[in-house]
Amino acid sequence: MLTPAFAATASGRHGAPRPLGQAMLRGLRCRCPSCGEGRLFGRYLKPVASCSACGEDFTAQSADDFPPYIVILLLGHIIVPMGISIDTHFRPPLWMYAVFGTMLIVALVLLMLQPVKGGVIAYQWAHRMHGFADAAPPPA
Ligand SMILES: [Zn+2]
Repeated sequence: MLTPAFAATASGRHGAPRPLGQAMLRGLRCRCPSCGEGRLFGRYLKPVASCSACGEDFTAQSADDFPPYIVILLLGHIIVPMGISIDTHFRPPLWMYAVFGTMLIVALVLLMLQPVKGGVIAYQWAHRMHGFADAAPPPA
């Protein structure tokens, strides 16, 4: 059974259209998914309360732990094959994995987390999830 907010989201019956692809691209650029102008983050992973350009309210976002899961999934598919390939071709000593592998992983995580979180927030916004749902359906 769908909740009224999700049912409205799934069918897109009320409210202005929110194109998912456009919103996701804006979110991945850490911009407001609604207008693409205002910044989505005030600090590294702290979303702003509202867009400085259009006033869209972001207090309803609930990305929680999903962005780190996505980053772990993506990096696992990048780092593990790369490590296997490097080990197969060059056989570097283990200390090089410990030092350079850790530095590479930390750098990639720090680079990926903010855009991925922006994408998750944009996805929630485009689908009117959580508090991004319209306040009330239009009159029938
Ligand atoms: Zn905006």
